[in-house]
Amino acid sequence: MRLFAQLGWYFRREWRRYLGSVCLLIIIALLQLIPPKLVGVIVDGVNTRSITPRTIWLWLGVMALTALIVYFLRIVWRILLFGASYKLAVELRGRFYQLLSHQLPGFYLRHRTGDLMARATNDVDRVVFAAGEGVLTLVDSLVMGLSVLIVMSIEISWQLTLLSLLPMPVMALVVKYNGDELHRRFKTAQAAFSSLNNQTQESLTGIRMIKAFGLEDYQSDRFVRVAADAGAKNMRVARIDARFDPTIYLTVGCANLLAIGGGSWMVMNHLLTLGQLTSFIMYLGLMIWPMLALAWMFNIVERGSAAYSRIRQTLEEAPELEDGSLDLPMGRGVLEVAIKRFCYPQTPIPTLRDVQLTLPPGRVLGVCGPTGAGKSTLLALIQRNFDATDGEIRFHGLPLTSVALDHWHRRLAVVSQSPFLFSDTVANNIALGRPDASREQIERAANLACVHEDILRLPQGYETEVGERGVMLSGGQKQRLSIARALLLEAEILVLDDALSAVDGRTEHTILQNLRHWGEGRTLIITAHRLSALTSADEIVVLRRGTISQRGQHQDLLQQEGWYREMYRYQQLEAALTAEPEGPEAADA
Ligand code: ADP
Repeated sequence: MRLFAQLGWYFRREWRRYLGSVCLLIIIALLQLIPPKLVGVIVDGVNTRSITPRTIWLWLGVMALTALIVYFLRIVWRILLFGASYKLAVELRGRFYQLLSHQLPGFYLRHRTGDLMARATNDVDRVVFAAGEGVLTLVDSLVMGLSVLIVMSIEISWQLTLLSLLPMPVMALVVKYNGDELHRRFKTAQAAFSSLNNQTQESLTGIRMIKAFGLEDYQSDRFVRVAADAGAKNMRVARIDARFDPTIYLTVGCANLLAIGGGSWMVMNHLLTLGQLTSFIMYLGLMIWPMLALAWMFNIVERGSAAYSRIRQTLEEAPELEDGSLDLPMGRGVLEVAIKRFCYPQTPIPTLRDVQLTLPPGRVLGVCGPTGAGKSTLLALIQRNFDATDGEIRFHGLPLTSVALDHWHRRLAVVSQSPFLFSDTVANNIALGRPDASREQIERAANLACVHEDILRLPQGYETEVGERGVMLSGGQKQRLSIARALLLEAEILVLDDALSAVDGRTEHTILQNLRHWGEGRTLIITAHRLSALTSADEIVVLRRGTISQRGQHQDLLQQEGWYREMYRYQQLEAALTAEPEGPEAADA
């Protein structure tokens, strides 16, 4: 029942709809009391032969009219009540998505996609069901149950009512116990559903890998195990679920037994007429639904409450970074990196130490170093996905921690190692950050990123659908498409995180030249494994074990003994041995 308090904010806001449907439910409950009363009157009339056929027809007509009115009112309350609950679904999903889109990478390290999807779909459905059906059953069972009880006690006999109510407290206890157990089991079942979702999502995303490794059977077995676990947990819920209705029917059966036993005794002792006993039994029949509804409500609300607590758990998760409030001044500014120490959450060992960089506008910085040296981490800090444990990064002299995050992100364009393409057209993928860009602007960006010719060769050119995650395109085409996407943003700082790795040397050279020309006055940060991408940088830093081990221009570094010279010579040799093939197809390495 906690759920109703938790959703109080929504009920208060949508009070008109809820009040409207509650009023209709009350009217329906009252109207439903009419037929049993009339049946009692007809039975007594027929029994004592004091009723005319005309009166019987009249009462039958009244009963039919009542049924018709109830029919229409039931349609209206459904529209009111369920309309309100579907609005809640839209709102909860909207909030959930907004929260997800504002979370930083740390959040996605803790949560898996399948689990988040389960919360946004399955759990929201449960809450919505509770806010619709749950409210209905609560109001209906209370209004209907209480009015039937009152009529039975006043109109017929309070003693007989009391007698037939004897089994109710036992039923209440059993329902309550089962409700608590259902809450626990349902939460476990939803968590199992999340795992199943994760498994499905990962299997489908990695399907090519699974096939390439011939792991179809192995993966199917794993899937079946997770599905069986979810099935078993849902079975545990179903076992508890199965106890609700029989408990109610048993209680109603006992109540009927007591009513017929006690009622017959009262009729024989002339304390009750036969018609009254008939009405009483019919009223008792009317009690079946409210009691079932009450048990059902416990069921729905416990499920809704378990689901809501899973959603809230995510919604209330505080972002690990505090957003700043300052606006960044317009225009180009100096980017200063002064990281003394950075450790990833839950790792005490620093990933970066003493990284000091000053990048005036227009500077091209190259970052290289062995795998795991901390290049991507440095870029993650510049993007403010994490904050330095000790030290800071400033732009325009303002520490990034004090600047509004989206202001900062608007100044950056990032091309990551593994670009993501949406299942949309090439043109829309390029225009992702600037949906209003003209075709000329899109083509210009594609030309700068040396992908225009490739796009023209696609079946529908810029209008070609690239398929999920860009399956239609090669690795190098995806990379160049995402460079075009970043260039279109015209941001002041362009970050290429090993974004040319799948492009051949000659195309890489052309793209870099284009960038230099395009990027006058813009800051460019490039990380690369292939050092040829960095040769024209104004400054190159070599990261080793999280700290800068060498820095300078290409020629300076070639003079020094160290990782850079060794790696450059090695890569030159390698390039000479694997000479590039000719032709446009060679654009992707
Ligand atoms: P590079 O880009 O130079 O290959 P990274 O910046 O990706 O290196 O990684 C630097 C180090 O930080 C590696 O040892 C890596 O294992 C570690 N690391 C990267 N991401 C995380 C993370 N999210 N949590 C903990 N450690 C991480």
